[in-house]
Amino acid sequence: ASGRKFYVGGNWKMNGSHKSIDEIVSFLNAGPLDPNTEVVVSPPALYVEYARKKLDAKIAVAAQNCYKVASGAFTGDISADMIKDCGATWVILGHSERRNVFGESDALIGEKTKYALGAGIGVIACVGEKLEEREANKTTEVVFKQMESIIANVSDWSKVVIAYEPVWAIGTGKVATPDQAQEVHDQLRKWMAQKVSADVASKVRIIYGGSVSAGNCKELGQKPDIDGFLVGGAS
Ligand code: PEP
Repeated sequence: ASGRKFYVGGNWKMNGSHKSIDEIVSFLNAGPLDPNTEVVVSPPALYVEYARKKLDAKIAVAAQNCYKVASGAFTGDISADMIKDCGATWVILGHSERRNVFGESDALIGEKTKYALGAGIGVIACVGEKLEEREANKTTEVVFKQMESIIANVSDWSKVVIAYEPVWAIGTGKVATPDQAQEVHDQLRKWMAQKVSADVASKVRIIYGGSVSAGNCKELGQKPDIDGFLVGGAS
């Protein structure tokens, strides 16, 4: 929409094996892919380098998370520098599963965003409200608060994609309607215009995630402020 290049990410979460990745890679490499769409896949960290080596250059690779420093005594974690060293160019940060299963705070996600961008890795920054927050009419309050920590840590917006992912739609089969998603994307873009700049707001890709499938993506993608998708299960 509006000159913004469509962006589609596949978040494989904690799924996959060499065998299943081989199958998906052959399918993706065979294409055809729309040259007007940026396609990114996000394997588990252990398979980032494997997937990168097998995928065509036209498909980018994202890690699903990373910590906020280059290296050190942080057992079990990985850094943006390592992601880059393994040939990936993006990282998903603030995914609702990181926020809600692993208890990551807005502040930590902000710090991670800053570090990853500084290390030269693009960030897919995820925000989204829970069902009870939507029902209490707190959707914008929640996503704007999550966005505050992100905007405070970004100077170059060309390397950031915002993913609006309502928690109630993730992995539930309960997709937001195109109107519901468009409403929040529009509110996010207007908020960005106020808080960052009109230029950034008009250029930043805001993608939708939450039970996106081959069946429902066309209608969602026609909305003016939906610039792509982050797809979990269906990817
Ligand atoms: C996700 O994990 O980002 C996601 C949107 O998952 P799903 O498509 O399975 O709802």
